[in-house]
Amino acid sequence: MTDEFKIDPWSSTNILEEDYIKLIREFGIEEVSDLMRLKISNRFIRRKIIFGHRSLDDIVKAIEKNKPWAVMSGIKPSGPFHLGTLTTALEIVEFQKLGAKAYYCIADIESWEDNGIPYDETEEASVDNVADILALGLDPSPERAYIWRQSKEPIVKDVCFKVGRLLTQNMVNAIYGEKPFGLYLAALIQVGDIVLPQVMDGPQPTVVPVGIDQDPHLRLTRDLTRRYYKEKKVDGKIVQDAFFLPGATYHKLLAGLDGTDKMSKRNPNSYFTFNEPLESIEKKIKGALTGGRKNKKEQQELGGEPQKCMIYKILMYHFEEDDDKLAHDFEKCVKGELMCGEHKEECVEKVLKFIKEHRKKKEKLIDKSRELLNIE
Ligand code: SF4
Repeated sequence: MTDEFKIDPWSSTNILEEDYIKLIREFGIEEVSDLMRLKISNRFIRRKIIFGHRSLDDIVKAIEKNKPWAVMSGIKPSGPFHLGTLTTALEIVEFQKLGAKAYYCIADIESWEDNGIPYDETEEASVDNVADILALGLDPSPERAYIWRQSKEPIVKDVCFKVGRLLTQNMVNAIYGEKPFGLYLAALIQVGDIVLPQVMDGPQPTVVPVGIDQDPHLRLTRDLTRRYYKEKKVDGKIVQDAFFLPGATYHKLLAGLDGTDKMSKRNPNSYFTFNEPLESIEKKIKGALTGGRKNKKEQQELGGEPQKCMIYKILMYHFEEDDDKLAHDFEKCVKGELMCGEHKEECVEKVLKFIKEHRKKKEKLIDKSRELLNIE
């Protein structure tokens, strides 16, 4: 990462392990404290996949005082779920289980601005994506969740125009660099998505679980929220409104399965979707980059490098429930007591079991998803 490095939410930014520390320092992201780990003990926090946050202390206070709080995130409906979208979706489900009301946005305006997909052509992917998150355990009852499509939601458009008045060319250039104007508009629509829980249901702390590449949207949103919603001028003086600055948790991004920088549609071997044939998923996992040595003898002598291994990472992110087993496997790999072949088999078995069960659950939730999105 160079000094001119900008995180770009619309491109395949490669972020290396050492860059996370630099990001924390440069962009004022805070580290997750022990108290937070205690209060929010989900897998992503325990395993340090979530490495930083903004304003998570507001959420901890709300949990302690039994006050309402929100979790908000969304998906660009440009294709089926994959391991990257799974991370955010599971984080939302975990936060909802912890007491948050969940707000889930279908970012069809962003799909248009970023990928040129017309709204009506995103409908089937939207239904599919919402059925996925329902199958993962999201409770869609109106008191526990709100799901919307950007193109159909007046609140997000209204916020976009209101806060847009405060945005200058210099601000967008500093945050995003030079981009097509539509992407700036999509960013303002996302400001609307992120403050929607408070506009709709009243001031409350909100956490937005995202990959670190989405931080520019959070910085923009917090700045505009502070200036439009939080600070009010009364008799010439600035007073603070009850509005909360939206917070965030940031997870580390998964690299491509094959060792390329990022899971990307341009490189089909770098990822698999939840809808592709099981044989293809198996093949991709078996072809994944490991931290293993050239042969069995070397592996036994030198040990493997699980910290570089995509098999280890996908198990850690999603498919190994047991923290102790995960730690034990790490140790066994380092000591040369675990071989890549057997570990890959175990990983394939776990992933395929998950996908099969997930598909069964999801089938039954397609109608519910259509109903929630108001799509025939
Ligand atoms: S033994 Fe497992 S964790 Fe170690 S390098 Fe091989 S696949 Fe990765």
